[in-house]
Amino acid sequence: MIIILLGPPGSGKGTISEQLRREFDFFHLAPGELLREEVAKQTTIGKEIKKYIEQGLLVPDNLVVEIVRLELHGKQKVLLDGFPRTVAQAKAIANLHLDKVLLLQIPEKKVIERFSGRRVCTKNHGYHLKYLPPKHPDTCDKDGLPLTARKDDDPKVIKERFRVYHQETQPLIDYYQKKNLLTVVDASLSPPEVYTAVKKSLFEKA
Ligand code: AMP
Repeated sequence: MIIILLGPPGSGKGTISEQLRREFDFFHLAPGELLREEVAKQTTIGKEIKKYIEQGLLVPDNLVVEIVRLELHGKQKVLLDGFPRTVAQAKAIANLHLDKVLLLQIPEKKVIERFSGRRVCTKNHGYHLKYLPPKHPDTCDKDGLPLTARKDDDPKVIKERFRVYHQETQPLIDYYQKKNLLTVVDASLSPPEVYTAVKKSLFEKA
């Protein structure tokens, strides 16, 4: 089973993925997290990746596709979060059987509000000061590491990420709609309501 989660930055893909992973034991594949791990390791490729992420740009398709291919190998029940992000990436996995593509739809204004409270530890455990608060605002519940805002949550970078989303990722919506795989979920509702809507749509026919 392969489920794709699409949506603009800040639409809650990571949170929904984490909930689905816990409840249904999905393998959660988020290239953004893997890319950030590579950056943290300060490898040569990590340094290259960093430049794209910090400017709000997409990392080149071939690199991301390669990472995803390696990670997908042998997995049965997969949740793709933040991949594909371009039609070229979608075409690169066109040989896979996709069960559903969920689009988390949300107005840009709401996203800006969400970004301002987002926090992450160096091991990529994510929180939101308002919607998913850690027990202590500056410390990760899971490993006690300090929590900080992501560099790419800076308002200027967010603006660029939206531009890239509209330009590169929006065409994917048409792509999957034509394949009759797309279901739209209103992601501006409260997190429990969004999660209920996501589960409902997962068990409905596309
Ligand atoms: P995310 O954590 O999914 O919001 O991704 C953070 C950043 O990682 C993005 O702004 C891109 O720079 C990069 N990234 C994540 N997924 C992809 C992808 N599928 N293709 C290209 N770049 C990606």
